[in-house]
Amino acid sequence: MYSIKDKVVVIMGASSGIGEATTKKLAEAGAKLVIAARREDRLKAIVEVIPNAEISYAVADVTKEEEVQAVVDLAVEKHGRVDVLFNNAGIMPTASLFEKRFAEWRQLLDVNIMGVLNGIAAVLPIMQKQQSGQIVTTDSVAGHVVFQQGAVYCGTKFAVRAIMEGLRQEERHNNIRSTLISPGTVDTELHTTINDIERRNWVENLQRTNGLQASDVAEAVAYAISTPETVAVSEIIIRPTKQED
Ligand code: NDP
Repeated sequence: MYSIKDKVVVIMGASSGIGEATTKKLAEAGAKLVIAARREDRLKAIVEVIPNAEISYAVADVTKEEEVQAVVDLAVEKHGRVDVLFNNAGIMPTASLFEKRFAEWRQLLDVNIMGVLNGIAAVLPIMQKQQSGQIVTTDSVAGHVVFQQGAVYCGTKFAVRAIMEGLRQEERHNNIRSTLISPGTVDTELHTTINDIERRNWVENLQRTNGLQASDVAEAVAYAISTPETVAVSEIIIRPTKQED
């Protein structure tokens, strides 16, 4: 397997769940990491428990393009390049359309779609200059199938799949790879972004009892970025074995 060692990797949404597990996995494999999210205490704690790793953190909200750009700029300043951007930040405040949760809809579009676009916008100039790079985005099985109360969330994940395919087509000549990681249910903190208490508890239970471990998804990310430059892993779908959809 091609080595992850010394690859410069930027992870957005690294403070918990899949992002945290991927940070740990890639640090173990010798990547040079710049990790970001909004919760500074969590980022700091992650850096502290990974000894001897080349890892820095920055506080950033993915909905603010200048903050995403600052994270990428920090990676370039520290390491001179960016090999991989992992667009992993996401939220899932599920509810039925009839509830008209305008603020949640806007936030979903802003974090799950604009967050990904802000990441792409920030790294493309440097990756084009390098004539190499890989953009990995966490999509979902919900980018393939729609579930009730998840219409808007699923819409954001379908959109991300379209955007990442467009990216693949537009940037393949620049040797830039586009990779989607699409998990089924994973045991993370994602349920905390659901505002309806009953539904939040239901999803938490599903995550705890039937979910993949975040480290299972981190393995998929590590595989995708460990392949040779001539190999583009476009998507990995990874479900708990017993998941229905
Ligand atoms: P977590 O809630 O544990 O992690 C979400 C991460 O996104 C956190 O680091 C959070 O950091 C970050 N984040 C949220 N909003 C913002 C923001 N505005 N700016 C910056 N960072 C932000 O859940 P997961 O690990 O499950 O989620 C990771 C990705 O996986 C998401 O894209 C999710 O949609 C996707 N996914 C999850 C599945 C699951 O069952 N868990 C299944 C399929 C896909 P902070 O709050 O500190 O900013």
